[in-house]
Amino acid sequence: MASKIKVISFDMDGCLTDEEFDDTFYFIELPSIIAKKRKISFTEAFDFATEAYDSMRGEKQWTDPTYWIKRFEIDDSFKDIIKNLKKELKHYRDAIPVLESLKKDYRLIIISSATRHFLDLKLDEEDIRQYFEATYSMSDDFGTMKKEPEIYKEICKKLGIITDEIVHVGDSRTHDYENPVKAGIKAFLLERKPISIEKSRSEKDSHIVHTLYEFEERARALR
Ligand SMILES: [Mg+2]
Repeated sequence: MASKIKVISFDMDGCLTDEEFDDTFYFIELPSIIAKKRKISFTEAFDFATEAYDSMRGEKQWTDPTYWIKRFEIDDSFKDIIKNLKKELKHYRDAIPVLESLKKDYRLIIISSATRHFLDLKLDEEDIRQYFEATYSMSDDFGTMKKEPEIYKEICKKLGIITDEIVHVGDSRTHDYENPVKAGIKAFLLERKPISIEKSRSEKDSHIVHTLYEFEERARALR
């Protein structure tokens, strides 16, 4: 019997792209610009920035780099700042081969918590944009930080499919596994650094995969 899965949905950060870039931007680059501008030590600037991030956790501006540039009264533009950081932007080694292969048989999309600013940069890197029919940014397209079950349903509607026809993969237990499952969507949790292979190979955790290669095998086997 042919698979009824038509669409494969990917999380971006921690799934296709590693998180080094975002961490460097927020915890090294912005603090060092703040330190220079305010003539304070890097540590003081780091604590200042980190406290500000903590105070905004859960708010939708939290993932918006341009919000922080404005809030920290930084003169450089987003573009200027990231120019030096682009080399930190890396897709995981299994990302492109798996996209290349799945693209032949499925419609591919991205459902990400990142803002458009970051999403676009990551899609441009090695031109992975070519693989996707649609990309969704929670904050820019839905005005929220979280991938709620309702949003998964709404995306299915936009794609003209039912919830049985899509499978999602990502590295957040809540947002990439539990929430799509609540919406009636099949999902796999990508645990790139397995805590315990034995535990995650057990029946109970059969929704866990450790690489995108493993995800591809599991997704193709869905009936
Ligand atoms: Mg993620």
